[in-house]
Amino acid sequence: MAEEQRAFGYICPDCGKPVFGERTHFALCAAASGLVCGCGRSELTAEPFGEHYRVTVPCGACGGEHRAEVPADKLLHGPGVALACPESKQLCCYIGDAHQVRKALRELEITLEKKKEHMDSAFVDNNIMYEVLSELKDIAARDGISCTCGARGCGMEIHGSAVDLICRQCGARLRVNAATDEDLDRLCCQYTLTIRGGV
Ligand SMILES: [Zn+2]
Ligand SMILES: [Zn+2]
Ligand SMILES: [Zn+2]
Repeated sequence: MAEEQRAFGYICPDCGKPVFGERTHFALCAAASGLVCGCGRSELTAEPFGEHYRVTVPCGACGGEHRAEVPADKLLHGPGVALACPESKQLCCYIGDAHQVRKALRELEITLEKKKEHMDSAFVDNNIMYEVLSELKDIAARDGISCTCGARGCGMEIHGSAVDLICRQCGARLRVNAATDEDLDRLCCQYTLTIRGGV
């Protein structure tokens, strides 16, 4: 029988990347285990301490580090554990089955990216801006953005309530408003976008 493993996952507060690792029961029971991010600047540790594990988690949500006591039984068996950041209430660490941890970690990465985008800028409406940007990404992904000058694709410049699509070839701009529900509706029904540039 293959030895049972437990997976650990968190988002590195330093580089923002998901950190994933598996440890065998044997290793977990024997001594403190660590999981270091590829960037080397954050580390999750789990140390057996009686019936508990003392877990230290670098927190991708608030940038701090949190300590938690997790019952050994929960850490080693069953559906797994998710630890929440006491600052932001956001889940920031998952321990359990590898598949589940990977999945949760992917979702967490997306959530934190969204939050970060929100914090980095003062948009008129964060949700609309986010939706508009992801819609634009979709349109761009299906090669739906072009310029009348013949260029495909574009650069983007993000403003408080609008996104400018800029032709990389001729420099023409197309402004896409991103402030209201109507702006979003208007964009969502477009399959392609054309920048009016040079001919
Ligand atoms: Zn890192
Ligand atoms: Zn936190
Ligand atoms: Zn152009």
